[in-house]
Amino acid sequence: MNDDSVTPMMAQYLEIKAQNPGALLFYRMGDFYEMFFDDAVAAAEALDIALTKRGKHLGEDIAMCGVPVHSAEGYLLSLIRKGFRVAIAEQLEDPAEARKRGSKAVVRRDVVRLVTPGTLTEDSLLEARRHNFLAAWAEVRDEAALAWADISTGELRVMPCPLARLAPELARLAPREVLASEAKEADLAAIVTDSGAAFTPLARSAFDSTGADARLCALFQVGTLDAFGTFDRAELSAMGALVEYLNLTQRGKLPLLRPPQKESLGGSMQIDAATRRNLEITQSLSGGRDGSLLSVVDRTVTAAGARLLERRLSSPARHLGTIHARLESVRFLLEQSRFRQELRDLLRRVPDMDRALSRLALDRAGPRDIAAIRAGLTQAGALAQRLSTNLPGLLAEAATALTGHDGLIDLLDQALVAEPPLLARDGGFIAPGYDVELDETRTLRDEGRAVIAGMQADFIEKTGIQSLKIKHNNVLGYFIETTSTHAEKMLAPPLSETFIHRQTTANQVRFTTLALSEMETRILNAGNHALEIEKRHYSSLREETLARSAAIAATARALAEIDLAAAFADLAAEEGWTEPVVDDSRAFLVSGGRHPVVERALRRQGGQPFVANDCALTDADTPAIWLLTGPNMAGKSTFLRQNALIALLAQSGSFVPATSARIGLVSQLFSRVGASDDLARGRSTFMVEMVETAAILNQADDRALVILDEIGRGTATYDGLSIAWATLEHLHDVNRCRALFATHYHEMTALSAKLDGVENATVTVKEWEGEVVFLHEVRKGAADRSYGVQVARLAGLPSAVIDRAKVVLEALEKGEREGSSQKALIDDLPLFRATPPVAPPRAEPKASAIEAALKGVHPDELTPIEALKLVYDLKAML
Ligand code: ADP
Repeated sequence: MNDDSVTPMMAQYLEIKAQNPGALLFYRMGDFYEMFFDDAVAAAEALDIALTKRGKHLGEDIAMCGVPVHSAEGYLLSLIRKGFRVAIAEQLEDPAEARKRGSKAVVRRDVVRLVTPGTLTEDSLLEARRHNFLAAWAEVRDEAALAWADISTGELRVMPCPLARLAPELARLAPREVLASEAKEADLAAIVTDSGAAFTPLARSAFDSTGADARLCALFQVGTLDAFGTFDRAELSAMGALVEYLNLTQRGKLPLLRPPQKESLGGSMQIDAATRRNLEITQSLSGGRDGSLLSVVDRTVTAAGARLLERRLSSPARHLGTIHARLESVRFLLEQSRFRQELRDLLRRVPDMDRALSRLALDRAGPRDIAAIRAGLTQAGALAQRLSTNLPGLLAEAATALTGHDGLIDLLDQALVAEPPLLARDGGFIAPGYDVELDETRTLRDEGRAVIAGMQADFIEKTGIQSLKIKHNNVLGYFIETTSTHAEKMLAPPLSETFIHRQTTANQVRFTTLALSEMETRILNAGNHALEIEKRHYSSLREETLARSAAIAATARALAEIDLAAAFADLAAEEGWTEPVVDDSRAFLVSGGRHPVVERALRRQGGQPFVANDCALTDADTPAIWLLTGPNMAGKSTFLRQNALIALLAQSGSFVPATSARIGLVSQLFSRVGASDDLARGRSTFMVEMVETAAILNQADDRALVILDEIGRGTATYDGLSIAWATLEHLHDVNRCRALFATHYHEMTALSAKLDGVENATVTVKEWEGEVVFLHEVRKGAADRSYGVQVARLAGLPSAVIDRAKVVLEALEKGEREGSSQKALIDDLPLFRATPPVAPPRAEPKASAIEAALKGVHPDELTPIEALKLVYDLKAML
């Protein structure tokens, strides 16, 4: 063959490849998906599989690698996780068909599906307890919108979303893939990638809003979308782009999407990306689910319930009615603990109907998915029977959506065996008794097998060979086997008249007979016939199920709602949580509050118990800010975060870790931590801190709850102090919000005297034999000192360094009191010595520090407590 010629197969490959730019092409060849050229090189590296060669193209070796079809899902998952998109080209005809067209004819192939992060449906590619959202952002003139869908559950939502809100909404939804017009790529790529999603630019035409209307009407089979609400052009455009992309990736097989639901921008508590990260709501700072709030509060027993919980925690409600209704059902189930356990036991056996339904719609399902729907609906019926009549609103509403499936359940009960196989292809899932013809065909097939088993005895008698056996393999089908020692006898008359030779191997000779091959044909025909009948039934069961998809999805939603309410009740019961009062005030009153994640960690370590703390940001028109001081490690961050989490849990509809809580509706939640490292994004830590602080000062309204931890830490002392100072004043005077502000700048405690709404609080420590002991108690008042040197000692800093630090500290403090310049101070400091000097020089500065401390004391003005504290302080200086 000429080196420059292109084989017909390669020509086909290149054509398909050209039609699917940007994706790795999985090219089906028999039992493998093969990849060629650059695809092969990239995939071999990403999957750590062997790279080989196959023939030549234009004189060059063709790089090739492949993965077996039966284990392809695992490889797909790795590739998707590494950011690839994969186009799957299947063989669309039997190779025998192709051969009929000529010896060189190539089997017809085409892409049946484009696998991308946002369009997965297989259980093995998805996390059961998390959503897998595909989102699209669109802008039409001055309107902008975000639409998102989970094709594995059928959810479709849309909301107005100006560009400035995109990052926080992406942080809330955590979609896997975001679509936008290629014209907007420059503005959006960074925002999207920062959120952790893959960015997929589409041609502008995909976002055309007129075409979108038509596409959506076709999808939902309605003449107008009015029935689902009114949508502006940007919303239509975003939803239209989603549908267009699904059409492209699913190659015309559209998933089962439910009618779009509109969300409003103000519908849920606004929480931006930095706050989510910081509060570790659904993911801990290290990236996993472990250590997050979600991991600690999740008691759901179904996958759909877990997904609902994640949604609720990610977008706590802002509507009092909604919050009250959710809390009411939790309270009801908390009180009825036996009943709750019964419900949970029933729920445990509810499979993931949403995902089974979506696979059925995309024709990617098997008999087991239909069985999952049967099991789910059956359990829903059992649950409905247990739900009494005096239920609170939300549960009563869920109860009505559980029933009405008797017809389908009966049908599936009769049609399907108890535990069907995964794939329809193998048959064996239709129950006996469902179809007479199928039963007869199966009997024929099975009887044939029995007859063959009986033949062996006949053959042994006829030949006199005791070791003769009838066996079966995929190449020969049924055959008679004897050891080669009998070959001569078998191959000579009279036996050779009956036994037809098929094969000779090293030790065996194999034969067949007319009767045996006839019987085999009968078995094969019966088997194939049975399979065809089963496949026909599969299609009709699939259709019957899909015809009821809307009602099934409603049942699945109701089950998730009940699961979540019961899970919250279970959590409250086990952890001793309390029902929060959420109202229209601006109160924030928490008694005995705890941090659920830290508390659990301490419990696991088995050491000190968690110390509960109160927080009272007063309920008045004045701003309410607590300025929290106290040494490092005292528990300031923990206290700040626990209060934010309590607000978040309450508005998610959960009880809270406290003995009592009254929370005036929180509209926005902000949390910032000073100078956390964000090297990954290549910004200086201080810059990040300031950008994030600016976002709060520009956005927080008087219903916001703001948590600032050590703001200003990332720069020089005086800069930092001034920034922290001005920030607090701005929160107080302009934002007028509720805030908890932790700082190590003691100077700021003076602000409480100047600003009405600012109160000092501190986390207490006790000093004992020169060591600090953390009490973790938050009380009103300012911390007296920072104990930094003592904390450093706890951390194991060498004692020479600790001693020296004390000397420097004393000199600095003394200088500050006496108003000396820094330069003079530094010049006056005695030199550092690596080994502690021998007494008396060591005693000298100590003595003068004590003297200095005593000089400033006026005994007449001291309270007994202050006097006692003074003694402690003096003692510590010894
Ligand atoms: P800070 O912000 O003041 O440096 P943290 O909030 O990080 O201190 O707390 C330091 C450690 O102290 C935590 O990891 C936790 O183990 C412990 N801690 C904090 N608050 C409490 C508490 N209320 N009860 C018991 N231990 C606590």
